[in-house]
Amino acid sequence: MTRVDDPMFGAQHARARLLVVDDQPLNIRLLHQVFQADHQVFVATSGEDALAFCGAQLPDLILLDVVMPGLDGYAVCRRLKLDPRTCEIPVVFVTSQVDSTEEEVGLAAGAVDFIAKSASANVMRARVNTLITLKRQTDLLRSLAQLDGLTGLANRRHFDTKLDAEWRRGIRSGSPLALILIDIDYFKNFNDCYGHPAGDACLQQVAKCLQGGFTRSPDLVARYGGEEFVCVLPDTPLAGADAKAQSLETAIRALGIPHEKSEVPGGIVTISLGVAVAIPTTRGNHADLIVGADRSLYLAKNAGRAQVKTLQI
Ligand SMILES: [Mg+2]
Repeated sequence: MTRVDDPMFGAQHARARLLVVDDQPLNIRLLHQVFQADHQVFVATSGEDALAFCGAQLPDLILLDVVMPGLDGYAVCRRLKLDPRTCEIPVVFVTSQVDSTEEEVGLAAGAVDFIAKSASANVMRARVNTLITLKRQTDLLRSLAQLDGLTGLANRRHFDTKLDAEWRRGIRSGSPLALILIDIDYFKNFNDCYGHPAGDACLQQVAKCLQGGFTRSPDLVARYGGEEFVCVLPDTPLAGADAKAQSLETAIRALGIPHEKSEVPGGIVTISLGVAVAIPTTRGNHADLIVGADRSLYLAKNAGRAQVKTLQI
């Protein structure tokens, strides 16, 4: 999760991860010398190795030789651009002689720039540093566009995209997809009693606690709107989602945030949780899951709030 106060924000000049791909050891050594002081340099000596490297870890930028035995630079670039995981990595072709036909083919394959092997070290560094700065700014904007400004959780747009993607993935895998819809009990009363700044602080505290309840990377916690939160749990059957929801209810209760205008006994902030689980199908829709979780949440509220209700769709 990237937050505005994240160290990432000031990391414009931190060492980037450069992948140098060239079949000639001499060229690799030269590029390594140019960039090693400023960046972390990784090397691959073939197109196949380069793709394998990117499959395991993502570099910030790739310096790619055009002429190589096996997969040449253009083919490598095209493949990287077709894969959603690697398509955002800037690719720079390093060529012995840049002619306009070659440049056209390279740009059409998805490269951002060309550098001549004969260019000076300073020119190479300057061009690469500019591209890395642009890449980082783009990454930052993209992550901010997915965040809720107040809580730092994923926002509604990110949740919608994630739920849709997980529904489609579930259709292929046949594994259950769970949704937990969460509402802070009597939150309007909280705001009326303590004021909106205290309400915001409460939302932030609850958000942080909910986020802390998830350690599996495929899970997502998002702010759904107002005082509502939502969790997406791929590959999770009803029993697992129910247990997770119960533990979240306990964790928020344990925060002990005073709420004297709550009608739940105890005078502290509590949450109601609605769980729905479905095996995604092509006949159904991910909206079914939201409707189901909404129904569970309604039942939890009707039964006196501060509790979990579940539904298997
Ligand atoms: Mg070569």
